[in-house]
Amino acid sequence: MARIGIDLGTTNSLAVAYKDDKPVKILNSLGSFITPSAVSADDDGKIIVGQPARDRLISHPDRSASEFKRDMGTRTTVVLGGNEYTPEELSSLILKKLKADAEAFLGEPVEEAIISVPAYFDDNSRRATRIAAELSGLNVERLINEPSAAALSYLTKNGYEDGTYMVIDFGGGTLDVSVVDVFDDIIEILAVAGDNKLGGKDFNEAVARDFCKKNDLDYGALSSVEKAVVYRAAERAKMELSSVPMVMMEIPLEQHKYVLTLTNKELIRISKDIFGRIREPVRKAIHDSRKKLEDIDTVILVGGSCRMPTVREFIKKITGIDPDTSVDPDTAIAEGAAIYAAMKNKDLKDVILTDICPFTLGVAVNNDILNDGSKIMSPIIPRNNTLPSSIQRSYSASHDNQTGITLEIYQGENIHPDENLFIGELKLSCPPCKRNEKICDVKMTYDINGILIVDVTTTDGAKATKAFRSNSSVLSEDEIDRMRSKMEASMLIRPEDEKYKALIARAERVYEQSYVETRSIIATHLMNFRAALERQDIIRVRETYKALSDLLDTLEY
Ligand code: AMP
Repeated sequence: MARIGIDLGTTNSLAVAYKDDKPVKILNSLGSFITPSAVSADDDGKIIVGQPARDRLISHPDRSASEFKRDMGTRTTVVLGGNEYTPEELSSLILKKLKADAEAFLGEPVEEAIISVPAYFDDNSRRATRIAAELSGLNVERLINEPSAAALSYLTKNGYEDGTYMVIDFGGGTLDVSVVDVFDDIIEILAVAGDNKLGGKDFNEAVARDFCKKNDLDYGALSSVEKAVVYRAAERAKMELSSVPMVMMEIPLEQHKYVLTLTNKELIRISKDIFGRIREPVRKAIHDSRKKLEDIDTVILVGGSCRMPTVREFIKKITGIDPDTSVDPDTAIAEGAAIYAAMKNKDLKDVILTDICPFTLGVAVNNDILNDGSKIMSPIIPRNNTLPSSIQRSYSASHDNQTGITLEIYQGENIHPDENLFIGELKLSCPPCKRNEKICDVKMTYDINGILIVDVTTTDGAKATKAFRSNSSVLSEDEIDRMRSKMEASMLIRPEDEKYKALIARAERVYEQSYVETRSIIATHLMNFRAALERQDIIRVRETYKALSDLLDTLEY
């Protein structure tokens, strides 16, 4: 029975095993290491996961979903083909697919996994990830923070060296910056900061807009097909600029061919705002870690957007450090998770990974400044504190003759408690106190498993203690049971059908994104392929499959 590491990403996911003393990337049933984090419901009730589901986002938007990782731990749901799905259920379908692909690739059952999550994920999101794993049939002993996984992958490749590392994870739609300390086989995250609305898609958009501007086209006024054509060409040009100094964009629109030459210098000019937004999380992570830039020994880059030389140069400029390029930006996190899985398996010497408190824990107190009966948040354990954490604060009476205390406990960064997550409350009586006189000590102890223990001691020595699972508020056991039965009944399409479905999904997407003349050619090829499938004519299936995929390759070059 094998144990794997999984990077369950917002845009893409992948699984890695640890075999023969090294991480081994797992190929999925379509022959790729990367499985897009997209799910689609087929017309016959089967579930499609990965690239074909991503293609169907365009051709069948009401049956397809992506980016649900952003909603993990919330009550958001999406309807696919008439059925409602929670983010946990959608993520469990991705995990179920990764598990099935890993079993086929490794030739043995896979029952255990270490899954990576962003360091800033709160307890609800972490618990949602565990529920998703359980629904997919995977045991998850521990989640690993993405920056710890990236650091682990770097250390395994380059040797364990004590030091302070900055991990910059810049993907398709998010930027996460972490400061990680490595000392005596302990990997400790000191601080995390990020921008969850900044990523490769912003560069694509900037290039697409610039292309239109220079060609006297109004990007906002383009049809959805035209926009998709320009956007795809922009992303392709951006990616090509990672390996060549100049690209020529040529886009046919409305019988006219529009062109633009793009260089990295030009890309920097048109993406000024995007680069500017990279600075803030870097500054904040350094500040929150209580380190200085000079203390950073190594900058580790992960995420697809870190392949851009302009991004690397910019990071070098703002940190003063030439970023390391020894880890593969696409796979480092999953590899780190697999290495950690091997450590748990005792295949490798263990390291200790510490966690940080990704949000502030505190209590609601009277707003003494406004004195209008409103409450404000009084933080006890601040965000970014290393776990386990135990901190005590004293509180005074809010009015004369106060004989009781009601502590309302919240997690979050907003000064208004109502805007934060309510965790629970604790009540006890106390000897009569005057306004502003000390009434009690409150000690909060928060551990790595999300257990919060609140101890209150009044001035006469009376004590009350209550333990909270700060993550138990979103889903009830009944709801989890219902999800379990529903997921057990949901069937992924068979791998042997998947190849054909994937080509159909791709053809339908390209059709949607094409002009009328091209559409009829695609439609003819697609019809021929479908007819061959229906007749189960193996030779014709092979011929029409090749003809259609060759056509799509030419159209998408
Ligand atoms: P991720 O979320 O880490 O999978 O990263 C996806 C993002 O990386 C997308 O915006 C891609 O356009 C971008 N990306 C992937 N490869 C490259 C490359 N070679 N050069 C520039 N950007 C890339």
